[in-house]
Amino acid sequence: MYDIIIVGAGTAGLSAAIYGVRAGKSVLVLEAASYGGQIVNTPDIENYPGIAHISGFDFATGLYNQAKDLGAEIRFEKVIGIEAEGAGKRVETGSGSYEARAVILATGAKNRPLGLPNEQELVGRGVSYCATCDGMFFRNRTVAVNGGGNTALEDAQFLANYCEKVYLIHRRDAFRADVKEVERLRVKDNVEFVLDSVITALESDASGLRAIRVKNQKSGGERELRVDGLFVAIGQSPDNAAFARLVKLDPKGYIEAGESCRTEAAGIFTAGDCRTKSVRQLATAAADGAVAALAAVNYIDAG
Ligand code: NAP
Repeated sequence: MYDIIIVGAGTAGLSAAIYGVRAGKSVLVLEAASYGGQIVNTPDIENYPGIAHISGFDFATGLYNQAKDLGAEIRFEKVIGIEAEGAGKRVETGSGSYEARAVILATGAKNRPLGLPNEQELVGRGVSYCATCDGMFFRNRTVAVNGGGNTALEDAQFLANYCEKVYLIHRRDAFRADVKEVERLRVKDNVEFVLDSVITALESDASGLRAIRVKNQKSGGERELRVDGLFVAIGQSPDNAAFARLVKLDPKGYIEAGESCRTEAAGIFTAGDCRTKSVRQLATAAADGAVAALAAVNYIDAG
């Protein structure tokens, strides 16, 4: 029986692990894929307080090592269900089951696809959701980035450093991304903004993606852009279906919880991008981890 089981080893989950073990609790972190969550794909973080610049991978690795060195146990197993009858919670994975007094759901969110018919078959053949991972395959080539948030703008900036040309396609003419990111990109000679526009089709041949069709939503006009790569950065969606009977999900699938990180279910807490919230940032994910862990500690200590 662990004191706390944390589902997810992203920024929120690992921050929760640090606070849990430092409060003297036994902590098991269960992660379906690799540690770090979404931030591992960010080339350069410059808005985490106290750290001027760090790559997402280095940040995540530091967090992982910190949690482990402090005593958190981390296992790479996918959680497929949780039973929460009575005081103990039973957490089922594909490989076994574990028990804990409290559980923190920190499952993050995953990349949202465009939903175009041949999109999935072109993944790895021109379509990517990670510029840091796949960008180097497109050195001196022409690529497009779709999205208007920080991820898209940062991806376009990163790709513009070594691609011949980068189209930034966004469905509006105003950006969600920080103004600084937009200004930084506007001065790049090899970046073309394609605004008020959506991608309507992916055109391919035997070797993969060769062009995209783009429609201007205001004029209705369509154009074909010849590209070797398309980086989709249109946000994330949560993956909480396995917990739908345990906690309340909002219509978009996020776990309903306020800033206390408490769910409606006794002893079940949530942290980071998987919960209902208005600001999803690295700093708020780490903050949630601390809040959720300390709430779990109080719950356990209250008996
Ligand atoms: P985001 O902020 O949610 O932005 C998603 C973008 O994709 C929006 O511009 C949205 O357009 C567009 N979009 C959504 N669905 C679309 C669709 N079906 N077709 C076309 N466009 C679509 O997502 P994100 O950029 O991945 O960022 C997620 C969170 O992480 C944000 O809070 C962001 O600030 C944060 N983040 C921070 C950093 C950093 O601090 N270094 C780096 C990356 C991300 P609309 O604007 O029209 O809705």
